[in-house]
Amino acid sequence: MKCANCGEPTAYISRSTTAFGEGDNLIIVENVPLVTCRECAIELYSAVTLGQIEQLEAHLTDLPQRSIPYATFQDQEDPALAHMAEVVV
Ligand SMILES: [Zn+2]
Repeated sequence: MKCANCGEPTAYISRSTTAFGEGDNLIIVENVPLVTCRECAIELYSAVTLGQIEQLEAHLTDLPQRSIPYATFQDQEDPALAHMAEVVV
């Protein structure tokens, strides 16, 4: 499909497991559709999808609860990461 960002016919719909919010309002949503582009790498959610996510966020206590492992990433010295940022910029 045509990419809304770069105009190339390289966009496609994929599904992902995505975290929204943070802290006590953190929610993990599986199977979220998004448009991804092979050319420019943009990732876009449709307005309908974002509306559904907002509805989920507004009713967190009504959602099924699942105990899952979680962690907050701890930064370490990572020269490769800094180099990758220089390459992208
Ligand atoms: Zn694109």
